[in-house]
Amino acid sequence: MPSVPAVLSVDLEYFQHTPAYRSAAGTTDRPTVGREAVDDILDALDSADADATFFTVSEILDSTPDAVDAVADAGHEIGSHTHSHHHLSELSADRRREELATSRERLEAATGQSVDGFRAPSFDIADDHFGTLAATGYAYDSSIVPCRSIPGWYGGEYDLKRPAAATAVDPDAPPTLAELPVAVMPGLGLPLTGTWIRFFGVSYTILGMRLLARRGIPPVLYIHPWELADLPAVEGVPKRVYVRSGAYMRRALRAILEQDFEFVTARTVVADRTLYDGGPPP
Ligand SMILES: [Zn+2]
Repeated sequence: MPSVPAVLSVDLEYFQHTPAYRSAAGTTDRPTVGREAVDDILDALDSADADATFFTVSEILDSTPDAVDAVADAGHEIGSHTHSHHHLSELSADRRREELATSRERLEAATGQSVDGFRAPSFDIADDHFGTLAATGYAYDSSIVPCRSIPGWYGGEYDLKRPAAATAVDPDAPPTLAELPVAVMPGLGLPLTGTWIRFFGVSYTILGMRLLARRGIPPVLYIHPWELADLPAVEGVPKRVYVRSGAYMRRALRAILEQDFEFVTARTVVADRTLYDGGPPP
């Protein structure tokens, strides 16, 4: 087994929360697309005896509270993925703070767990991100993708590859906050999961996990329940969203979890200072 653990993080949102769906011309009348996939993910984690972190859009507590209950009851970590899954940089400072505070409060009330971690929708953060996170009670962030610039999309801004004090990303960040960046393929500079596992295939992801582990970097993967769902055809949703979603991703998740890694929660990696990238720990 590699000397570093791996993190499987789930951005717990439905197809209807994605910017691709929200900006499409068409709609679906199927409710909460991705709900069944939450059970598929929980089954796969249980079969592999793996722990995971679910960064959860808290408004799903209104539509499908059973999904959050099932995740928490299985012993996985609950983090926040905002309340309504809007891009933070497009909101006012007050709305940003409300999204972060409301989601944390509601998820804690619903699960009885302390919600310490946060991931921004589409990895989109505002200049006041770390200050707002600390002010609303979070301990760590996982919204940094140290990938190459993908024109018209994201990337090119950050170089952080390992867990670190958030001050490694923003010198003005409160010193108590930690940052857990997501995994990027060494050399190529593209994320190991998200769209890229579906474009390049699961063997690409597994190779990247091994290359990172050899460098002593715990791979932090992310998936979405809707990627494992059989998606409805909706006019205007980009083709990339449909590539290998559904059955392929359900098999891919199981293949990843069969690898010779110990899968632990994001909170566990953040607490392990031996994995940090130099500098004073938070
Ligand atoms: Zn999301």
